[in-house]
Amino acid sequence: MITKDALLYLSKQESLKNILTNVSLFKKITDRFVAGETIEEASLAVKELNKLNISASFDHLGEAIKSEEEAEAEVVEYGKILSKIDKDGLNSNVSLKPTQLGLSINPELGLRNIRRVVEKARAYNNFVRIDMEDSQYTTATIDMFKVLRKEYDNVGIVIQSYLYRSKDDIDDLLKCGARIRLCKGAYDEPATVAFSKKFDTDKNYIELSKTLLESGIYHGIATHDVKMIKAVREFSKEKNIPKSAYEFQMLYGVRRDLQLKLAGGGYGIRVYVPYGKHWYPYFMRRLAERPANVWFIMKNFFLG
Ligand SMILES: Cc1cc2nc3c(=O)[nH]c(=O)nc-3n(C[C@H](O)[C@H](O)[C@H](O)COP(=O)(O)OP(=O)(O)OC[C@H]3O[C@@H](n4cnc5c(N)ncnc54)[C@H](O)[C@@H]3O)c2cc1C
Repeated sequence: MITKDALLYLSKQESLKNILTNVSLFKKITDRFVAGETIEEASLAVKELNKLNISASFDHLGEAIKSEEEAEAEVVEYGKILSKIDKDGLNSNVSLKPTQLGLSINPELGLRNIRRVVEKARAYNNFVRIDMEDSQYTTATIDMFKVLRKEYDNVGIVIQSYLYRSKDDIDDLLKCGARIRLCKGAYDEPATVAFSKKFDTDKNYIELSKTLLESGIYHGIATHDVKMIKAVREFSKEKNIPKSAYEFQMLYGVRRDLQLKLAGGGYGIRVYVPYGKHWYPYFMRRLAERPANVWFIMKNFFLG
């Protein structure tokens, strides 16, 4: 049996990445989770979601870039996405990763570049969500967000319920009116910083979601877990929090049945739509979340 840890380990192996990204059949299998390689292809996916009353968040795949030039190219790409959303009247915002915009090269560079994207989004009356990466970047990401939040109100952040620190982070971030996406967390973290048992991560998720729901700020509840969704719905009902006060968020290609059900039930639902050539680490994290996905791949790979 391939374990989650093994898949997260494989996601960091450059040689495997180079082989798999060049196998066209493998690329085809990624279509389930990745909406193509270009803005045009991703826009088609977003249009289809919008027709179903589902909003979106474009994500240009990429992380831990190695040069200022690559970071600059990401700023340009996000400018193009924002312009495309505006031109085509799409119901979508954008999500980006701090290390994709330069945070891992230099925090000042990351801040400068993300500020440019947020500025552009503001000009289009749109919103930028800063994704959360592995825990070595949590403090830098939150610090950068707080600087941006003082200047802009069209920027939000992500908090992961598997980190012990997240309750304190949420209490702190709510003081500056932060719009937060709550997720469980997708990286391979040590027990010194994160819960290792799913039970504890889930318990914390429910506790944190209650704090968010009671804050009066519009947040994103990002999960495919029906237990989390049920807890959020029941708590909102008990506290008379309207459906319009928050939204559910899910990933492209994951639990489409649930996405439709929530949209049909009058809940706000946003789907994260990744696209681009650098799909490998993202794709491996999706496999690690659900080992059954590995069998889905094996079946397609070997049985055609
Ligand atoms: C919109 C959005 C944005 C996110 N942004 C971030 C981020 O910025 N940083 C970060 O660390 N993580 C992020 N994540 C990933 C998140 O942290 C989890 O890794 C992921 O959502 C799986 O957790 P879950 O809440 O769905 O619960 P789980 O307990 O993992 O899954 C519950 C059920 O959902 C279904 N499911 C979950 N994942 C998959 C999958 N890959 N394939 C098929 N079925 C699946 C299965 O039925 C599973 O039993 C994001 C998730 C979403 C939905």
